[in-house]
Amino acid sequence: MSFFSLQQLKNYSVARWGTKSDVCKNDPTQICLYVTDRCTLSCKWCLKQFESSKYLNQRSDMSFEQAKKILQYFPKAAHLSLAGFGEPLLVEDLFKITAEFKKRPMKTSIITNGTLLLDRIDDILHAEFNGIFVSVNSLDSINYKLTCGGNENTFDNVLKGIQLLVEKRRSTKPYISLGFVLTRDLFNRAPEIIKFAEETKAECLYLHNLIPHDNYNDYTGILTTDDEEVVAKLSEWKRKKNKIQVSWPKLVQKGLEKPARICKPLWNWIGVDIEGNTAGCSRAMGTSKEYGNLFQEGKIVWNNEFRKKLRMFFLRKEFLFDCCKTCAEVQP
Ligand code: SF4
Ligand code: SF4
Repeated sequence: MSFFSLQQLKNYSVARWGTKSDVCKNDPTQICLYVTDRCTLSCKWCLKQFESSKYLNQRSDMSFEQAKKILQYFPKAAHLSLAGFGEPLLVEDLFKITAEFKKRPMKTSIITNGTLLLDRIDDILHAEFNGIFVSVNSLDSINYKLTCGGNENTFDNVLKGIQLLVEKRRSTKPYISLGFVLTRDLFNRAPEIIKFAEETKAECLYLHNLIPHDNYNDYTGILTTDDEEVVAKLSEWKRKKNKIQVSWPKLVQKGLEKPARICKPLWNWIGVDIEGNTAGCSRAMGTSKEYGNLFQEGKIVWNNEFRKKLRMFFLRKEFLFDCCKTCAEVQP
């Protein structure tokens, strides 16, 4: 099916153009399923690597029945993304889930570290994802192993997987995006990263700023607005034309006292994990019972006290949580 239903379109237009209040009048337009806690890598900036991480006790992967139950609450959603506090391509039921949800008009996308692209290429192509986002994060196998883990062949396998996907897909479906966390150490290599990404023939390259997960006053490794070299080079690089579409990192303003804008995903996006726990937000906050549980609260979770309070703070141009102060979503 390719056309969205009237209720999906109406829901989208309220989400896009409707007045924003703490109680959100539209349903989420986008659902993200956190389908697994298991991963093939151990990236050093991952939420899982922090001592306080809730994701160390690995739970069973999301089943087809759990995914179906979650999506039944949100018939107006038009985009399903598959992610994890781990690698979604490890999940046994993954392609059963996508096949079920292709029955309703819905765009589907997946966020993967790419380590299993080669193994599951036929299933991936058959699933007809609209988008595949591959986090690459390195330019060579030595650095890859140091920052992301895996073995000496992992990086090459990720590249071969991307190459095979490009060769075997139909036209530009799925649309392939590559992701790099552009730490301050890597910053000067951005032109090389762009060249590397262009050679893969992917469509888009996302260069992300680092998200701190523990100390939000520590700007080590983060690209900040007071860094003159970063500001000057970014403005020079942005003027150049590239063969690949580049999404540049948003610089963080140190000591930001109020959000420059509302955090839009709070009005259109919901993430749900294996146990029905919802994500506090689409970036820094993972899933937790304290943010609301879909299986226990039902759809009211979308407008529960946690979400209403968080939205209200943004509408008042105030921060409720420290993690928002360094988030790209609300930087000037
Ligand atoms: S691939 Fe993703 S989930 Fe796995 S360790 Fe890296 S950042 Fe964490
Ligand atoms: S601004 Fe805050 S609530 Fe919004 S995505 Fe960023 S960290 Fe999450």
